[in-house]
Amino acid sequence: MVVSKVGIEVVDSHAHFFTYATIKQWLDSGASLERMQKRVGTYTDMGTLTVPDESWDAGQMWIDELDKYGISAIGMMISPETWNEFNEARKRFPGRFLGYANINPAEENAIELVERAAKDGFQGIKLYPSSWDFHVYDKKVYPIYEAALKHKLLAIHHFGITIGSTANLRFGNPLDIQKPAQDFPDLNFMIAHFGAGFFREVLMLMYQTDNVVMDTSGSNSWMKYQPYDLTITKIFEKALKAGTAERVVFGTDSSFFPRGFRFNILEEQYNAVKSICPQFCYSEDDIDMIFRKNILRLTGFKPK
Ligand SMILES: [Zn+2]
Repeated sequence: MVVSKVGIEVVDSHAHFFTYATIKQWLDSGASLERMQKRVGTYTDMGTLTVPDESWDAGQMWIDELDKYGISAIGMMISPETWNEFNEARKRFPGRFLGYANINPAEENAIELVERAAKDGFQGIKLYPSSWDFHVYDKKVYPIYEAALKHKLLAIHHFGITIGSTANLRFGNPLDIQKPAQDFPDLNFMIAHFGAGFFREVLMLMYQTDNVVMDTSGSNSWMKYQPYDLTITKIFEKALKAGTAERVVFGTDSSFFPRGFRFNILEEQYNAVKSICPQFCYSEDDIDMIFRKNILRLTGFKPK
């Protein structure tokens, strides 16, 4: 048993595996690194972003971070260009990395990628409706859900605001997931960042669906763009009331170096949960569900 620096066992359900290949792909696609760095500096707590070079061993770097903070395992979003490097890291460090394949249903090989994710032992898929030009209830997306269900993959969705500069918020409303959730009652859906601004909608989904959970990942800076005041503690209080501890899944949204594992987010969220536990009668087991058990239940993953 590995105990984290906050004193409990932790599995981080949401992070990103970026490598040299990621940056190369961005630049090849005409993306401006300067613009990205500027957005990162303005909208995130990252400060600087170190661009990976060819010599980086991203797998080893993440393992060093996990060991430094006592994190049992971490879930990584994987794009096609980082797939091989990630898969190699997964095998080298068994029981430490959960994998979720980034899937765009508009791509011709989308189903093939879901099949490959299952074959490679990944735990889920990640979809980005905020950056698409169609809704997730569009029939175009249904074959993806069918394939995910067949292989018991968790379907993670990023709705709401996003750092990507091409987002289209018209497709970013989490209420869109209600219909697929009804049509696929045996598929588990996870909504990232408490809905990234559509918090009210995600809370309503807790009432309206049984197979949708929310992840807590990131700084949750979306709260700045709400018409009322929120704090991390208040967010957890509302989320736990609406969804119970079973449907709140801890994540950090760690991504780049030199920032590495976002321990400050673990610390902040753990303290927030701890502070509301006594008055709302949440137990140690509830805390364990949020920070470890839920993501293991949803994916069947067994950490080392
Ligand atoms: Zn993320």
